[in-house]
Amino acid sequence: MHQQGKGTICVQGGYTPGNGEPRQIPIVQSTTFKYATSEDMGKLFDLEAPGYFYTRLQNPTNDYVAAKIAELEGGTAGMLTSSGQAANFFALFNLASCGDHLVVSSSIYGGTFNLIAVTMKKMGIETTFVSPDCTDEELNAAFRPNTKAVFGETIANPALTVLDIEQFARAAHAHGVPLIVDNTFPTPVNCRPIEWGADIVTHSTTKYMDGHGVAVGGAIVDGGKFDWMAHADKFPGLTTPDDSYHGITYAEKFGMGGAFITKCTAQLMRDFGSIQSPQHAFYLNLGLESLHVRMKRHCENGQAVAEFLQAHPKVSRVSYCGLPGDRYHERALKYLPNGSCGVVSFELTGGREAASAMMKALRLAAIETHVADARTCCLNPASSTHRQMTDEQLAEAGIPAGLIRMSCGLEDKEDLIADLSQALDTI
Ligand SMILES: *Cc1c(COP(=O)(O)O)cnc(C)c1O
Repeated sequence: MHQQGKGTICVQGGYTPGNGEPRQIPIVQSTTFKYATSEDMGKLFDLEAPGYFYTRLQNPTNDYVAAKIAELEGGTAGMLTSSGQAANFFALFNLASCGDHLVVSSSIYGGTFNLIAVTMKKMGIETTFVSPDCTDEELNAAFRPNTKAVFGETIANPALTVLDIEQFARAAHAHGVPLIVDNTFPTPVNCRPIEWGADIVTHSTTKYMDGHGVAVGGAIVDGGKFDWMAHADKFPGLTTPDDSYHGITYAEKFGMGGAFITKCTAQLMRDFGSIQSPQHAFYLNLGLESLHVRMKRHCENGQAVAEFLQAHPKVSRVSYCGLPGDRYHERALKYLPNGSCGVVSFELTGGREAASAMMKALRLAAIETHVADARTCCLNPASSTHRQMTDEQLAEAGIPAGLIRMSCGLEDKEDLIADLSQALDTI
């Protein structure tokens, strides 16, 4: 069968209307769904029949959009969550509980680091953090008998490190656990981690997938390749009966392709309720319809801005994996051959003071705690998100005081460069 391209999936995936049905995905703005008999509804509660009964668990609008994202990632099932934070929490907590252990790349989004290192630790889940540049020996040494998953980001926010997905997948599988990859920055348009061995993919859809700064959201996709039954002792939640669902064993009833997402919906969404509203799912879908077109432009602008900055005398360092000579360029050629994303980070020779003076002079690029938007924005972590840290602590964390993270939007690259140029001239 002809394999559809990612662009076609972005536009048409997940929803095929029948005769006389809405061309655009309908917003099913209803918390609840009607049935003729209690028996009909009982079957839904027992997961004996597919269908909708309450939007906290599932809603048709969300399912259309989740199906599109799953198709884009080359997965077998997907679900939406209220935020990227909820997506990562659900993906991890669906596998690990009190007394378990995780192996996690140390180069990840600050919110995810906090979730894992502080909040999940309070829940009794221990984590060993490893460098994204670790050797096989260092990586393998991080595992324990109670390790339940490995986690990393394809391109880390904000450090812009690139994960060696194959290396991390190999180690995870050698220890009988899945690899979860947060693919927020490249999106499936630029990288499909499942094709490189990842088992589960997560997203903050708040970023490029939405792309217009309108809706906070998240998504989880299962690649359907991890054999839970072959590691039944490690994953009793998937391979033994769930008493809260009439003794259903997810891996038996829903198979490798459906067990993970069904359990995640039936247990975690039911109990934590971090659902995305159907209205937000509709906005997200509008973003997805142009994702393949926008990613190209974000990458083109990111590359042009990175090259301009690299050649500027007031800039001491630029991180962008599209630059030859960048520490992650080789890895990017393998995993991100068509481009990475629009986020560039750089340091000024003048440090923190120069960074804040320069940013004040920018006219197009706004100062925001956001990335991956149509409008260019920038942030100096040292004076905002990481304000509580001393210069020494910042340097240790790989976030020097003068570091600026710039998210190149969809404007004309000549204008972005002119804006940067005039702002750099003021310092
Ligand atoms: C923003 C972000 C998150 C958190 O997502 P929210 O939608 O803000 O909850 C997780 N991972 C990465 C890589 C992110 O950039």
